[in-house]
Formats: sequence, C-alpha cells, structure tokens
Amino acid sequence: MSSTAGQVIKCRAAVAWEAGKPLVIEEVEVAPPQANEVRIKILFNALCHSDLYYWEAKTGAVDLIVETKMSFILQGFTPLFPRILGHEAGGMVESVGEGVTELKPGDHVLPCFTGECGDCRHCKSEESNLCETLRFNTDRGVMLNDGKTRFTKNGQPIYHFLGTSTFSEYTVVHVGCLAKINPAAPLDKVCVLSCGVSTGMGATLNVAKPEKGQSVAVFGLGAVGLAACEGARMAGAGRIIGVDLNPGRFSVAKIFGVTEFVNPKDHDKPVQEVIAEMTDGGVDRAVECTGSFHAMIQAFECVHDGWGVAVLVGVPSNDDAFKTHPLNFLNERTLKGTAFGNYKPRTDLPTQVEKYMNKELELDKFITHSVAFSEINKAFDYMQKGQSIRCIIRMDA
Ligand code: NAD
Ligand code: ZN
Repeated sequence: MSSTAGQVIKCRAAVAWEAGKPLVIEEVEVAPPQANEVRIKILFNALCHSDLYYWEAKTGAVDLIVETKMSFILQGFTPLFPRILGHEAGGMVESVGEGVTELKPGDHVLPCFTGECGDCRHCKSEESNLCETLRFNTDRGVMLNDGKTRFTKNGQPIYHFLGTSTFSEYTVVHVGCLAKINPAAPLDKVCVLSCGVSTGMGATLNVAKPEKGQSVAVFGLGAVGLAACEGARMAGAGRIIGVDLNPGRFSVAKIFGVTEFVNPKDHDKPVQEVIAEMTDGGVDRAVECTGSFHAMIQAFECVHDGWGVAVLVGVPSNDDAFKTHPLNFLNERTLKGTAFGNYKPRTDLPTQVEKYMNKELELDKFITHSVAFSEINKAFDYMQKGQSIRCIIRMDA
C-alpha cells in the first residue's frame, strides 16, 4: 500500500479550459480510484495528433460510428471543457480500487485510449479489438463506474479525455485500459507504443498485411504514418511510397524505409493518378494516416484493382464524407479502417514492449523533441508547425 492510497492527491495537471487556448498548469485534486479503477503516476507523455484535434475542437472534429447492441449511433463531437487531455503515456501504479487484482502499486503501465475487458464478444473475437465496454469514446468525460470525474479544481469538476487524461501527474484509469509492462523498459521511449506507433504499425502489419515484395503507399508521415512505413519495411515491402504535403518529411522518412516520396502539391493531376503511373496501375496496399478525407479517398483510389487494400487510420472531421465511384469496389479494391492498429491493448502491448527490449522494434527514431511538463504548450506548437514526429513531455520537470 502506498502512503497516499485512499486519499485525495493534489498535483499539477495541464488543463484545457477552452478550445484552442494554451493549456494552463494548475493544481488539481485527484480522487482515489473506485471499483475496477487504478490511480497512476504519469512519468512521461508523448503528444499525438488526436490530443490536438480535441483541444482545437473545430466545428465537429470527429464523426465516428459506434456500434451499440441494437443500432448505430454517431459519436459526434461534443466539445467538453475544462478537460485534461493526453493519452499516449507511461506511468506507475500508485494505488488500486476495489476488485483490482492484476495490478499493484509500483507496477509499470501503459494506459490505452481503448480498453480490453477480456469478457465481451469483441474481446473474445480474434477479429476485433473494439471492446464493448471500454472501447474509445471521445464524448465521455467521466468515469464509467459512477458517471463522475475524478479531477476537480477547488470543487469544480474537470472532464476526462479518452479514459486516460495523462496530462496530469496523477490520473485515474479503468483497469481494462492499462497494460502491465516490463519494469525494465524505459517509459520515456515505450510510451509511444501506447497510441501512435502501435496504431501505425498495426495498420500495416495487422490490417493491410502486405506480402513480401509488394508496394505500399503511406499517406501522412507523422509518427502514425512513419510507424505504418516501419511496419511495411518489417513486412519486406518492395517499395514504400510516402505521401505528404510537408516536403521536410522525406529526409526523415527514409530512416523508416520510405523509398520514394510524393508531394501532392508538386503535381497538377490527382495524386492517385501519379501513384498509378509510378506503379503500373496502383499500389498493392495503401495506409492513410492524415485525418484529411481527401487523402482517405486518394489512398483508396490509388490501390491496384483486383487485389489492392486501403486502410484508413486518420481521425476525420465531423462534416467529412467519403465519396468514390462504386465501380472502384466492383473492380475489387478493398477499403478497411482501424482503431489502434487492431491491437488488443492489454494482450498485445506487453509483447510490443518486449520486442523493443529485444531490439526487434525501433522506437527511439520516432522521438525528435522533448519538453518539460511546465512547457507542454511547446509540444503543441511543434506538432502544429509540422516540426516534431513525437515530442516527449517529461512530467518531473
Ligand atoms: P501528425 O500531425 O504528426 O502527422 C500527420 C501528417 O499528415 C503530417 O505530416 C501532415 O503534413 C500530413 N498530411 C496532412 N494532410 C495531408 C494530405 N491531405 N495529404 C498528405 N499528407 C497530409 O499526426 P499523427 O500523430 O501521426 O496522427 C495521424 C492521424 O492519425 C491523425 O488524424 C490522428 O488523429 C490519427 N490517429 C488515429 C488513431 C486510430 O486509432 N485510428 C490513433 C492515433 C492517431
Ligand atoms: Zn493517439
């Protein structure tokens, strides 16, 4: 038992009070964990574009369809403020709530924005990682147990984000959204596995599944896209074509196996035509990691007929629609999408961490910047300017 177990902890958190306004470091109160919850001390964060989206909260940032038992509901974008963002992180268990047996104080964990209860149809299916109870929900700002927040500032509730809210020195997370990992693993490196790198790598390895020698186009060369390239390299892809509007991305992309670079701005015809010409009719696989619906359509339309598969990863805006001619499907192109690269977080993250420890997986090259927690807004600035791939936020500084 830690000395703080059962007590309210006062600590620093970066609070988003309003959409698009710089985060403010505040002293907040973090309540003890309730049943099936765990309070963790966050040691490192990495900034993912999804944090930026929900912070910007532009008119309806997201349009995700959530399957319920009987129907489909649209998980629209409800701007929730004040909120504590953050979901790509690493930390240590401080205390556990009632019923938590698989974790104890001191364990090292990676929080995950989508959970794994282990019991539902999805968790039992080898084909899905969309846990019925704990799948990502960008609209929910409270804990499942009692529908309330664990964060307050002078009594005012502060909303959670993606069930993780890691931009706080302490946070409370459902046990099903925490992967217990090797305590020897450096958390300032493996934290990037808790979202971006696993998502991109899994999009290629688990969903697009290129065969050895095949060609893969990756749209968007941020951390998610570069991880998709890395996955293609690991799968033995013959050609990896990186597509990005930022010309600065190509030199760095070479380290992730990208063999050719296409900047749509350099061409006066649609990029799907450019790629079709380069590849005798289209690439075998395409992975979209931008969040732009234009790029989503381009990624689908640039795959070869007969066998081509495109995978969507980027988070679209609320008003976006995917428009393509149905003949593109009749000509035997396949369109897929993925959350978290189809990995099951609690089952697969510890294995990913072991791969890093055994030098089968490179993570250091994704990390280009590092800032103190007190300067967290700089991390947002680097990403907005397209300068960083992953910026680590050191919580002790
Ligand atoms: P990032 O900002 O670091 O990188 C995005 C890259 O896409 C940038 O280099 C940008 O220049 C490029 N880009 C933007 N529009 C483009 C276009 N039209 N054509 C070509 N390139 C374009 O972001 P990231 O952290 O790597 O995240 C990428 C996307 O993946 C985001 O939309 C993020 O929200 C999403 N995401 C999804 C999941 C999931 O589970 N599906 C998980 C994590 C992140
Ligand atoms: Zn993310």
